[in-house]
Amino acid sequence: MSLDKNQYAQNTDQYFMSLALNEARDAALHGEVPVGAVVVRAGKVISSCRNRTVAGRNALLHAETQAISEACRALGGWRLTGCELYVTLEPCMMCAGAAINARIGRIVYGAADERFGACGSMCDIPAMPSNHRPNVTAGVLGEECSEILSSFFSALRSRKARGLKVHRYSNARRDDVLALFDICPESGALIASLGLPADAPPTAALRGYPMLALLDGRVAGLAVLHRGGKIALLMVAPDRRRTGIGRLLCEACAVKSEKMGWNVCVDGSKLSSDAENYFRRIDVPVI
Ligand SMILES: [Zn+2]
Repeated sequence: MSLDKNQYAQNTDQYFMSLALNEARDAALHGEVPVGAVVVRAGKVISSCRNRTVAGRNALLHAETQAISEACRALGGWRLTGCELYVTLEPCMMCAGAAINARIGRIVYGAADERFGACGSMCDIPAMPSNHRPNVTAGVLGEECSEILSSFFSALRSRKARGLKVHRYSNARRDDVLALFDICPESGALIASLGLPADAPPTAALRGYPMLALLDGRVAGLAVLHRGGKIALLMVAPDRRRTGIGRLLCEACAVKSEKMGWNVCVDGSKLSSDAENYFRRIDVPVI
């Protein structure tokens, strides 16, 4: 859960790539292939998007095409002259073509894509004779960008084998969530609590950003993130503990916090020493 962007001076290629990497991390948490893209002009971020092909059920929803669309909307025109496209994975033919059509000045990518990369690997679309040829910079934070892909696919294989994923809370799952409150006694599977009064309805605990861990389609865990980045509640069904669900939910809280500009943390004054050790072990700051 390192906050990469703090390591780099603003306005550098590494800095903007670290923002794209955060989008990629967010994609991974939503079960999408982790690719993120950011459009920058004159050192300012114009748009920032992640891959959404699975959720959108649409092959065109690559990170780059969305970042280009959003930048066109933000700048009020189809020409993104003077803009730079930062993307964690080498653009495919569609995205390289979209960057050319949008007159992107420079494409900066992290990891090369031997199979589908169209900026030098499988083919080289920006180098083809056309009336607009973006410059290309390859390999910026290349190791991090490629690591996030390989760990996504290995975690996906293991989560798929276990049927585990993170989902945003929705009212459709309210009964499942209430059932989780029923089977998680304060002292047992409830790892961190809000300190709500005992007679407060469980739904009061859902204020903020609730996230669910689903195991084989059933709610097996819940985390609630508050504004400012505090993980206010984390619970895992007693029969599903020690399966990585808590860690997965904390990662989801960290990614959300990062996007909102918060520092994820948990309030140590409300934790048992076991719970405190747990959060330290999974790198969640205890304050
Ligand atoms: Zn693409």
